[in-house]
Amino acid sequence: MEKDQLIAEMKKIVGEENVLHSKEALYAYSYDATPGHIYMPDVVVSPGNVQEVSAIMKFANEHKIPVYPRGSGTNLSAGTAPLKGGIVLLMLRFNKILDLDLENLIAEVEVGVVVQDINDYVAPHGLIYPPDPGTVKTASLGGTICENSGGLRGLKYGITKNYVQGLEVVLANGDIIHTGGKNVKDVSGYDMTKLFTGSEGTLGIITKAYLKLVPKPEAQASMIAVFNTLEDAGNAVSDIIAAKIIPATMEILDNSSIRTVEDFMHVGLPTDAAAILLLEVDGHPVIVADEKEKVLEVLKKNNAAEVTLAKSPEHKEQLWTARRMALPCLAKLRPTTFVEDATVPRSKLTQFLKIVTKAAKDYNVTIGTFGHAGDGNMHPTIVCDLRDKEEMERVHKAMDVIFRGAVELGGTLSGEHGIGLGKLPWMELQHGKEGMNAMKAIKRALDPNLILNPGKLIGEC
Ligand SMILES: Cc1cc2nc3c(=O)[nH]c(=O)nc-3n(C[C@H](O)[C@H](O)[C@H](O)COP(=O)(O)OP(=O)(O)OC[C@H]3O[C@@H](n4cnc5c(N)ncnc54)[C@H](O)[C@@H]3O)c2cc1C
Repeated sequence: MEKDQLIAEMKKIVGEENVLHSKEALYAYSYDATPGHIYMPDVVVSPGNVQEVSAIMKFANEHKIPVYPRGSGTNLSAGTAPLKGGIVLLMLRFNKILDLDLENLIAEVEVGVVVQDINDYVAPHGLIYPPDPGTVKTASLGGTICENSGGLRGLKYGITKNYVQGLEVVLANGDIIHTGGKNVKDVSGYDMTKLFTGSEGTLGIITKAYLKLVPKPEAQASMIAVFNTLEDAGNAVSDIIAAKIIPATMEILDNSSIRTVEDFMHVGLPTDAAAILLLEVDGHPVIVADEKEKVLEVLKKNNAAEVTLAKSPEHKEQLWTARRMALPCLAKLRPTTFVEDATVPRSKLTQFLKIVTKAAKDYNVTIGTFGHAGDGNMHPTIVCDLRDKEEMERVHKAMDVIFRGAVELGGTLSGEHGIGLGKLPWMELQHGKEGMNAMKAIKRALDPNLILNPGKLIGEC
């Protein structure tokens, strides 16, 4: 179809003011937070209600035009990159919290709402919506549902899929369906809610969600522990869980990340430490006091060189600086930053960190690793220069070793950032041919013309 005709049809559906097609606008939506993936779309369309989404999908399906749903564009797997041209479907006009049901502890929320805004809305009622990716203040609910995002509280509270109870979805042919809802228990039919959660925009356009909320914990205790060997840090992580304590947060930074943060921030981090762990236990004050003591015991037993307890919320923020600043500080080192998120069973954490350290050394690339130690979800962060072909070859070799290493340890390519385009080469390694075929069959059944975010997550069908 001619581009002008496509633009005219989109304007008929959503109104002229909700269609962008200038060269500058198209360029602005040609990429997301992932480096190295720039593809020009033909048009950017912002629908304002589910009927408009349905009309767009019917038209796109009939004319076999690719559609790329997009929230805030903060994903790290090129999930919104318009690989084959077509329509970028910007969902940010879906910006309302429709209902807060305090009897059922359920919020009904449109997908363009920013995740932090959900928390701010429910906080006066003593509630939280736990999924908290680093981008909690910018990411849209729809993006976090489609990436099945996690965050710092994943260990105790779980990830997005644990809080999405129902969805409104527009299918590739324009049909509008509803999955799940307010029922805590619901085994009527396939679990379509879970299928769409984490589907990276390849199976349908999500327009609203029913979200489970939980009571805000009454008390917290936070601390930072310094270790001189990776083994001690890794063993401390396993031993805390083995002691039947599930901290809300258990984060790790390796030496390379510690040094980089200290170079930029000068906050007094121990630059010769092999690793630091940041921990928080939360819940009823009596349980928190008990768990804090047990955690301190485990840290001591595993040779923590130093442990500092947060004396106030402000002090906690200060201690947490290292974790919050790890990525921004690493990103300052070089022009290009790849944040990976290979994940292993937590008992294999030390082995995995050693694989990453060796890959960095063998291929002479700079990798800082930090992440959600309690979930075994690491973020090996490779800083480099995309323009340097020779360096990029070494970067890709290091990535190959890291992803293969994770899968060989019984891990996964992605704990929370999704597959998108970047990790496609390793998908068959993790899922096998048969596993990939099953996923492709689901895609073909729901999107026979392959118009929804084509080429992503499972590759070509
Ligand atoms: C600095 C930084 C830190 C981060 N930290 C974390 C972290 O701690 N944990 C974590 O899990 N992630 C993290 N991320 C990744 C990212 O923020 C999350 O994946 C986020 O959930 C994406 O939300 P978004 O609105 O930006 O989605 P987008 O990037 O716009 O889209 C993400 C995917 O969802 C699809 N999509 C979006 N909206 C819809 C919809 N309505 N219907 C169907 N498909 C849709 C898109 O096609 C795309 O495939 C981080 C990213 C950055 C840059």
